[in-house]
Amino acid sequence: MGLNLDDVDRKILRELQKDGRASFRDISARISVSTPTVSSRVQAMVDVGLIRGYSTMLDADMLGQVSVVLMLESRPVDLEKVAERIKDEEIVRQIYTLSDSRVLAVLSFYNQVKYQRFLESLAQIPEILRMDSSMVMKVPKESPRAALTDEAGLLIRCYYCGHMMRDEGIRIKLDGKYHYLCCSVCERLYREKYEKLKKSAGNARPLVNEHSTHAHKASALD
Ligand SMILES: [Zn+2]
Repeated sequence: MGLNLDDVDRKILRELQKDGRASFRDISARISVSTPTVSSRVQAMVDVGLIRGYSTMLDADMLGQVSVVLMLESRPVDLEKVAERIKDEEIVRQIYTLSDSRVLAVLSFYNQVKYQRFLESLAQIPEILRMDSSMVMKVPKESPRAALTDEAGLLIRCYYCGHMMRDEGIRIKLDGKYHYLCCSVCERLYREKYEKLKKSAGNARPLVNEHSTHAHKASALD
């Protein structure tokens, strides 16, 4: 058993990307695998953090929203800080920090006042050196950023030491949830820590360290 996504995982993910409300039974019929297989694969991909949730796609135009793309320039060392300062704003829908020392943000809002207020708040961020904005006229394509190509593989951090794993590693099941460890030493230490915490807390929660929730791509979770 590896940690790679296989064809079944990818097929399930494609079905879910098409329709996040599809039932395990629907998916199993569409891709010709059993319902319990779909269910256990999905659970594994949720546990590892690859499936981050299910959301409802709304038509922003129908809501009468205006979108603006903002380019913020800063020093490379300040990029994260700039992103951090704007990320909790409701009108900021997407943020990308770019390799050329800029932050690209997509904003959506109903009223100009909110937008103006946001722009004024940006003036209070000294790390922003320059700013450009453009209004979005049309959105010919809008897809989730995660593309499920056939070569999509999973990057997971070891739940114990944080070491990045690709293909190698150990998957264990504790209290019905999957946990990923890079080697047998980490596995043993993790089990000990898990048992200890479980005893002291009375109820067990996975010891996911903060890195491991950011699985980047997908992989196997049989
Ligand atoms: Zn490890």
